[in-house]
Parts: sequence; structure tokens; C-alpha cells
Amino acid sequence: MTSPKSGLAFNPNVAALPSYNAGLPVAVAREISGHDFIARLASNENPFGCSPKVMAALASSAFEPWRYADPACRDLKAALGKYLGVDPAEIVTGNGSEEMIAAISRAFLTDGGLSVTVVPSFGLHEIEPLAAGAQVIKVPMTADLTFDIPAIEDALAQKPQVFFISTPSNPVGVTLDLAALERLAAANGNGCLFVLDEAYREFTKPGFPDGLEVLRRLEVPHVILRTFSKAYGLAGLRVGYAVCSDTEIARVINSAKTPFNVNASAQLGAIAALEDEAWMRDAVGRINVERERVRAVLEGLGVWIAESQTNFLFLDCQGDSSACAQFMLKNGVILKGWREAGYERFIRVTIGSTEENEKFLDVFKKWLSR
Ligand SMILES: *Cc1c(COP(=O)(O)O)cnc(C)c1O
Repeated sequence: MTSPKSGLAFNPNVAALPSYNAGLPVAVAREISGHDFIARLASNENPFGCSPKVMAALASSAFEPWRYADPACRDLKAALGKYLGVDPAEIVTGNGSEEMIAAISRAFLTDGGLSVTVVPSFGLHEIEPLAAGAQVIKVPMTADLTFDIPAIEDALAQKPQVFFISTPSNPVGVTLDLAALERLAAANGNGCLFVLDEAYREFTKPGFPDGLEVLRRLEVPHVILRTFSKAYGLAGLRVGYAVCSDTEIARVINSAKTPFNVNASAQLGAIAALEDEAWMRDAVGRINVERERVRAVLEGLGVWIAESQTNFLFLDCQGDSSACAQFMLKNGVILKGWREAGYERFIRVTIGSTEENEKFLDVFKKWLSR
């Protein structure tokens, strides 16, 4: 693909990528809506902020912005290894778990490769394999928006090199139960890396299967992705990690990222956040209560909502999702209108503060009675 402007040849895999559907900045939303108070419900951020211990760590003399941070993230990996009961050498830390998705794609996929994911899906589970030159099979969910296990098994039979799935699912919110996870592990087959993205695991109910335990027990080559962005409230710091089934996989993924990817503030902040699990549990508890309250109001309006064990809801907006998102934005609410083919009636709305959720419900009622 040659640019008519510069005459340069782009990497065709990259030049043809679909764009990532990121939430709008609040300043843009203020300008468009004319509202001062904006309900920021597009990016699944934590409405309660983060632990005060994180802020204290960043204000302490341990934070030295003029120094290069430890590229090996030794302290953070040691803390995570202890927390998870794994060898720190099996962990790769990233500038968000998003960077890990890119590094995994770069480490395991080449031109002509094959990867599998589901649809609707987290955008990067498709974009990063495409950037690496792979083909992506996207397996649709069932009509009632749960994972279609037999269809995923069929796709895995086509021998992909990498399989990406998020549980709980972003954007839907549903989870894989133990039986489904075991079936997919069995179907994963030889030569495929099973990437289980658990970005929302902290929001799940008791009984949510421990992916790390299951995939280790079944000896499936795997990476478990976790992040500090959601339940811990550190989206702006950018820190997530990959727990690999062996140190060789970790070494190669590590080679596929930039050396100083997790900056000094992110390393300090993540360690402090991990040490204050009580703060995280409290925030998650309050968000889950609020989610069920918002769900009940919406269901009272006759709205269809997917099952959710996350800090967001995926719902049928009874019209075109892009038009709905535009309407909401003009009225001071940022959320995501889903654009993947077959799902253009769905919006994803984050559970925010009570004030934000009330604003969402108010404006959404106007949308429904338009
Ligand atoms: C938010 C999210 C991530 C990315 O998290 P970062 O650590 O902020 O990069 C990864 N996977 C899923 C499914 C997510 O929803």
C-alpha cells in the first residue's frame, strides 16, 4: 500500500486496520453538549478513583521521575508472584494489558497466521492479530448473547496459533463457567496459545472459575491477562500483566515489548494498589450494587440487557447504536455505541457514580421516547 502523499510504502497489514473505538475526552463532550457535568460512561473506569495509598506512593520520595524505572519490574513482579502463587519469571508486565495483547500477537503470529476470537469482542483481540498479518476468525455469540461453545470449538479445530477470549466478556459482560472453560481448554489443541483476558475478574460472583488454576491443571499453553485499570482504578497509569504457563513463553512475550514499557509511577502505583485490596473490594462491592440498581430501572422500562458480572451493561438500545450514542453525547453522556456487524443495536454503558448513572437513565429515557 503506497501513500499518494508521501510515496512511501506502508505495512499493508497496519494501513488497513480498523480504528479502535475509544471513548471521547471529557472536554470534547463538554463542547458538543454544552453541559458542564458529563457522565463518563464509555471506558469502564472506576468512579471511585483509586486507593489513597496509590496517591501517597506517587507523592513519596520513592517516585523519581528523572530515573529510568526498573525495566524488569522486579518489585512489582515479586508482589504479583506472591499474590498469585506463581514464579515471577512467568509474569510479563505491560503498559496496560493492551500492550500485552500486542506483544503476544507479535510473538506468536506472522503473515498468514490464524487467530480466533468472538464477536462482539474487545477491539484489540482483533486489531493486534491483524496488525501482525494474521487472519482472524470471529465467532458470533448466541442469539441471547452467551458464548457459543460448539461454534468456538469448530473455529479452534481450524488450528489457529492464538485464541483470544475475555471472561467476563467485554463488551457483553457474560462469563465462561467452569464446564465451558474446560471444554474450550480441551478444544484448544496442540500449537495454540490460549489467551484468557480476565480484565473484569474482580467484579465476578463467587463460583467464577479460576482460569489460572484450570488452564494449569489441564496443561494448556496459556497466558492469563489481568489489569489494574478497572477494579483498582489505575486506567491512567497504564499497567497490566500477563501470567504465562511457562518461563519460555514469558521470555518471548517480554522480547516483543519495549524495554521501559511500565513507567516509574505505574510500577509504584500498582504495588500500592495491590497492597490495598480492601479498597478495591469495597469499590467493587459498591459498583456491583449500583449495577443491579441500574439494571432494575432499565428492565422496568422494558429494555433487554445481557447478563453482566462486570462494571458495565450491554443493552439493546431499541434503535441504531451510533444514533443513540450521538443523542446521549449531545445530552452530556459518553457511552459506546457498538459498531460490529450484527450488533449495531447495542450500547455499552459503564456503571459510574450514582450521579452519572442517574444522568444516563434520565437521558436514555428521553432517547427511548423520542
Ligand atoms: C479494559 C480492557 C483491557 C485493557 O486494559 P489496560 O490494562 O488498560 O490496557 C484489556 N482487555 C479487556 C477485555 C478490557 O476490557
